Amino acid sequence: MRLILLGPPGSGKGTQAQRLVQRYGIVQLSTGDMLRAAVAAQTPVGIRAQHIMASGGLVPDDVVVGIISDRIDQPDAKNGFILDGFPRTVPQAEALDGLLKKKRLTLDAVIELRVNESALLQRVETRVAQMRARGEEIRADDTPEVLTKRLASYRSQTEPLIHYYSERRKLLTVNGMMTIEHVTQEIDRILSAIGAAEAKASSKAAAVKRTAKSAKKAARPNAGRTSKAAGGAAGAAKKGAKAARKAGKPASRGAKKVVRKAAAGSRARATGKTRKAAKKVTKKRAKA
Ligand code: AMP
Repeated sequence: MRLILLGPPGSGKGTQAQRLVQRYGIVQLSTGDMLRAAVAAQTPVGIRAQHIMASGGLVPDDVVVGIISDRIDQPDAKNGFILDGFPRTVPQAEALDGLLKKKRLTLDAVIELRVNESALLQRVETRVAQMRARGEEIRADDTPEVLTKRLASYRSQTEPLIHYYSERRKLLTVNGMMTIEHVTQEIDRILSAIGAAEAKASSKAAAVKRTAKSAKKAARPNAGRTSKAAGGAAGAAKKGAKAARKAGKPASRGAKKVVRKAAAGSRARATGKTRKAAKKVTKKRAKA
């Protein structure tokens, strides 16, 4: 199973990703964690990222795309993965599409954790207090000032991905204001509905049968926006089952280079049209 968790800082992506890891035996690929490790080790990437991260900005696309491309090639990611904190910009999403295609992998779904912005500051303050109580080191970017900047960059650069994945019929939205347990249950429910939970099964026939069944379920008229999206994602889950069988094949060596090119090229391709459409969605959401 291959998923993306999308949501602003403090929306619970990390918590839910850990639960998905336990439940489905897949790995959590958090670009934030990887970058923090690089900063701690003072690698060239870490040195480059350190100040950007501390100020709440975004690390350049080519850096994070390169990191993710390499990480997806590791043996522990063969069973599947959850991308947490990546992609964060439309060019990153386009680069991810390119690298998955190159590696002959399919994305099952993008889960958006939707939360009230007003609750986020409180959540981050709670997280900081809990970390302090555990004697853990506090993140340099977990301050009210930096959080405000991180939220602004989420709104302007990451929120357009909601439109991006919705257009590609991959988006599933979960109310992130529920309790942790309820959010987990809801994610489980929608993953079962689209058949993604079973996509890792090895038998093609079994996977196709299950997908058809769950697609039917997902198409129920009373299931609202989530199910509408699930209908589209069910097709992807079917493809995902096929891709899962292929996933054992080694990824092409040139992938990283191609991805970097795509990241650079995609910036140029982020046309006014895409931006306008994304802005429209963002505005609508702000009003809601
Ligand atoms: P996170 O742990 O996901 O909140 O990420 C912490 C910080 O790492 C972010 O505020 C960014 O500075 C940087 N970062 C993490 N992921 C990305 C990404 N996909 N693109 C750019 N910067 C990132």
